[in-house]
Amino acid sequence: MKRIIVAIDGYSSCGKSTIAKALAKYAGYTYVDTGAMYRAIALYTLRHALTEEPAIVAALPSIQVGFIQVDGAQHVTLNGEDVESQIRTLEAGNRASMISQIKEVRAFLVAQQQKMGEDKGIVMDGRDIGTVVFPKAELKLFLTASPEVRAQRRFDELVAKGEHPKYEDVLADVNDRDYRDTHRAESPLRQAEDAIVVDNSHLTPDEQMNVIYDYFNRFQ
Ligand code: C5P
Repeated sequence: MKRIIVAIDGYSSCGKSTIAKALAKYAGYTYVDTGAMYRAIALYTLRHALTEEPAIVAALPSIQVGFIQVDGAQHVTLNGEDVESQIRTLEAGNRASMISQIKEVRAFLVAQQQKMGEDKGIVMDGRDIGTVVFPKAELKLFLTASPEVRAQRRFDELVAKGEHPKYEDVLADVNDRDYRDTHRAESPLRQAEDAIVVDNSHLTPDEQMNVIYDYFNRFQ
């Protein structure tokens, strides 16, 4: 069977990681959540109170981001420490969206991501995978859903984790992050010309996966 690279890009909270994980399992591929890598660097800057760009860039050589498997799930590590739960907060997400605007931070992580894809057989999700990290990926998917649908999903996730967000705040956050992701100077979120757009606002998880498996199977 031909091993390919699957690049999945899209807005925040549109279900990229759920889809990417399911497809990686289906295909027997490695899954890489690049958002988690930006979040891990964000967590480092929060812990060390680094807010200025030069200080963040200077800290990069002291930051090691990795992945480990815990009970069949992928957890991100920061300098060897499992920080999976700490990176999944609104604060870390917002900080990730800020530090991801820094050119050097992007170059630092993109180089690692390209290395992870050297042997293909990978499903990677993020914002710039089909445009910058793997512009030659065989299959590129661009996921989208309305801001309201995405805010509701994010709200439900945070509540399930015991947080008490207000829906209006989560929606404002989704809109702010979309704006920053699409307007930043460095690798803004945009659809690659050869990407397949999947709008999942009105698809059930099963319907959506069937559409995606179908695209994947065209390469087998
Ligand atoms: O996908 P997730 O919400 O975990 O990503 C956190 C933030 O990291 C995003 O809001 C985005 O600004 C940034 N990011 C990025 N490029 C990627 C993945 C994530 O800029 N490839």
